[in-house]
Formats: sequence, structure tokens, C-alpha cells
Amino acid sequence: MSSGATTARAADLDAKVRRDLRTLAKFITFYCERRHAGVEKQPARLRTIDVTSVCGRAVPLCAPCAKLLAHAFMKRLVCPLAPKPTCRQCPQHCYAPAYRAQIREVMRFTGPRLVLRGRLDYLVHLWL
Ligand SMILES: [Zn+2]
Repeated sequence: MSSGATTARAADLDAKVRRDLRTLAKFITFYCERRHAGVEKQPARLRTIDVTSVCGRAVPLCAPCAKLLAHAFMKRLVCPLAPKPTCRQCPQHCYAPAYRAQIREVMRFTGPRLVLRGRLDYLVHLWL
């Protein structure tokens, strides 16, 4: 399944980056499951990252959400800021505008629902 030496698996990534990628995948999956129920989904695949390895399981998403995930993963991987500020407070706003609107929608939908379930750990530095 690996497309070559450039595909990063979980063990290749910094623990913080890996946690952020997992959180992003969780948010987007949660959103897609509920907002795009009934839409055909496929396990997300990226050329540069082994999503299943990084997330510990397959991440089934519809096509637009898979694109968002790819964009979000890519942006997280190339984030030059260390320590990474919260996206909300970041001066750079590196997401392309369409994806930025999409991820904000995902965060707005998913964030409060995970809080209600006591999953505060998901509201990481990533966004809030
Ligand atoms: Zn979706």
C-alpha cells in the first residue's frame, strides 16, 4: 500500500504532530459521519502520509472531506511555527480560504459536541 519511501508512517512523525493529525482526523470524521450521512465514503489516502497508520485506523470520508483532511494534514506538517500557536490566534492563517471556511465549520460543529461528551482532550491547542 505504501507508495514509496516518502510516505510517512506514524513512527516517522513527531509525537505532537501525530497527535494533531489524529485530532484533525477525528474532528473531520465526526463531522462527516453526521453531516454527510448517506454520502459515499472511502478510507482517506494521501500520497505523503499513511493515514491509517498515523490515526491507528482507517478514516472513512466523503470526497470533499477527504480533500479537507489532505489540506489540513499538509498544512500541519509544514507549519513552521514552533511551538505552534492555536490556529485561531495564528498570524499566518495558512489555510486556503475555502478550506479555512470548511475547517471552521467542522470545528464549530464538532467541538461543542465533543465537549458535551466530556471529550475535552480533543479541544487541544490545535484550535481553541
Ligand atoms: Zn464529508
